Amino acid sequence: MGTPAGTDLNPRTTKYEFYGPPGALFVTVATPFFTYLLYFSCSEETGGCPPEVDLEHVLGALKDPHFYLNLWDAEAAKWYFAWFAFCVAAWAILPARVVEGTLMRDGLKKKYKTNAFSTCILAFCIVAGIIYQQGPEGFTILYRKLLGFMTAALAVSTVQAVHVYASSFQPGKLLTLNGNTGNPIYDFFIGRELNPTIGSLDLKYFNELRPGLILWALICISTLCEQATRRGGWANVTDSMWLTAFFQIFYVVDSMYNEAAIFTIMDITTDGFGFMLSFGDLVWVPFTYSLQARYLVFEQVELGLVYTALILGLNSLGYLIFRQANSEKNDFRNGKNPRNLAYLTTKRGSKLLTSGWWGRSRHPNYFGDLLMALAWSLPTGFETPITYFYVIFFTFFLIYRQERDDAACAEKYGDDWETYKQIVPYRIVPYVY
Ligand code: NDP
Repeated sequence: MGTPAGTDLNPRTTKYEFYGPPGALFVTVATPFFTYLLYFSCSEETGGCPPEVDLEHVLGALKDPHFYLNLWDAEAAKWYFAWFAFCVAAWAILPARVVEGTLMRDGLKKKYKTNAFSTCILAFCIVAGIIYQQGPEGFTILYRKLLGFMTAALAVSTVQAVHVYASSFQPGKLLTLNGNTGNPIYDFFIGRELNPTIGSLDLKYFNELRPGLILWALICISTLCEQATRRGGWANVTDSMWLTAFFQIFYVVDSMYNEAAIFTIMDITTDGFGFMLSFGDLVWVPFTYSLQARYLVFEQVELGLVYTALILGLNSLGYLIFRQANSEKNDFRNGKNPRNLAYLTTKRGSKLLTSGWWGRSRHPNYFGDLLMALAWSLPTGFETPITYFYVIFFTFFLIYRQERDDAACAEKYGDDWETYKQIVPYRIVPYVY
C-alpha cells in the first residue's frame, strides 16, 4: 500500500532549515561552483596557492567555451565510473555482516550489509599492487586528473539526486520529516525519501562511506605518489606530506572499520537522501578535504621532529575524543553501557548519557573531529590561509549541525532536553562553547 505525502506516516514538513528554499537553492548552486573555485585557487595549473593570475586573464578564460569543455576529461570520467561500479560490485560480492539500523517511523528496522572495510582494503591492495609493479608514478593519475574526476563525480551525484527525488513520488515511500515541504527546490536539496534504494542497495548508506570517502584516501595516496615521483623516491617524501596523508587515510580506514557506527548518525536516522548528501558524499568530501595533501605536492614543507611530534599529538588527542565519544553513544544506543555511565531516562523512553564524554559537552564527537581537522592543516605551514579551508569550513559546518541537531532533539525530547541541557550546558567544546 502507498504512503502518500501528507498522511500520518508522511506528514507535511512545516519548518524550513538552511534558510528555506532560497538557502537551499543557494547551497545547491554555490557548492559545486565553490568546489571548482577552491581547486583553481590552490593549484599548480593556476600558479600556486593563491594563484598568480590577473583579473583580465580570468575573465578571458571564463568567456572561452574551451574552459568549460576542459572540465570534462573522458579518461578520468571512464575511471571514475569504473570506480563507482567497483564499489557497487564489492558491496554485492564481498562477505558482509548484516546489521540492523535504528527503529524507523513505520515500525521497521532496515538491514545493512557492512563490508565497507573489506571494500577499502581491497581497493588499497589493488593500488598497492599497481605501485609495487610500476613504482609511485603508476598511481599519480588521481592527482594529475583531479579536475576530470571531480566533474565526473559531480555528474554522478547530480544524476543520483535527480533520480532519488523523482522516485520519491512512487507510492509506498517513507519520506523524511524534514524534506516533505512540497517545495521542489527545497525537497530536492534536503532529500525527500528517507532510504531510497535500487534493488536491495540502500543509496544513502552506500554513498555515505564508500565511493566518496575511500576515494578521498586514494587521492591522498596519489598525492604521496606524485611527491615521491618528483623527489626521486619514497625516502625523500617530506614529513609534512606523510603526516597529512597518513592522518586522512587513517580517518577513512577508521570510518570503514567502524562502519556500524554510522547507523546512529543524523544522516542515516533523520535526513533524507537528496542533493545535499549526494553531492556532499561524492564531491565535497573527497575533492575539497584533500586540498592540503594536494598543496604539499607543489609546496613542499619540512616540519622537523618537534613540529611533527606536536601535530601528531594533536591529531591523536582529537582522534581519542572523537572515537571514544562516538563509541560511547553507539554502544549506548545498541543497549550496551560497558563503563556504567550515568544517563537520563526521557518520557519518550529513550535515554540520554549524562556522564563520560556526553556529560562534558552535547557534541564531544564534534570537538574531537575539529582538533583533527586542525592537525590536518598545520603540516602545510602558514604561507596561505587557503590550506586551512577544511578546518574553517568544518567549524561553521559543525556549529550549524549542532544547532540543527539541538532543535531536532528539543522537538523529540521536549522538557527532558531542557533538563539535559542544564546538566550538560556546553554545546561542543567543554567549558568553552
Ligand atoms: P551525532 O553522532 O552527534 O548524533 C546526534 C544524535 O545523538 C542526537 O540526534 C541524538 O539522537 C543522540 N544523542 C544526543 N545526545 C545524546 C546523549 N547524551 N546520549 C545518547 N544519545 C544522544 O551526530 P552526527 O551525525 O552529526 O555526527 C556523527 C559523527 O560524524 C561526528 O563525529 C561528526 O563529527 C562526524 N561528521 C563528520 C563529517 C565530515 O564531513 N567529516 C560530516 C558530519 C558528521 P537520538 O537520541 O535520537 O539517538
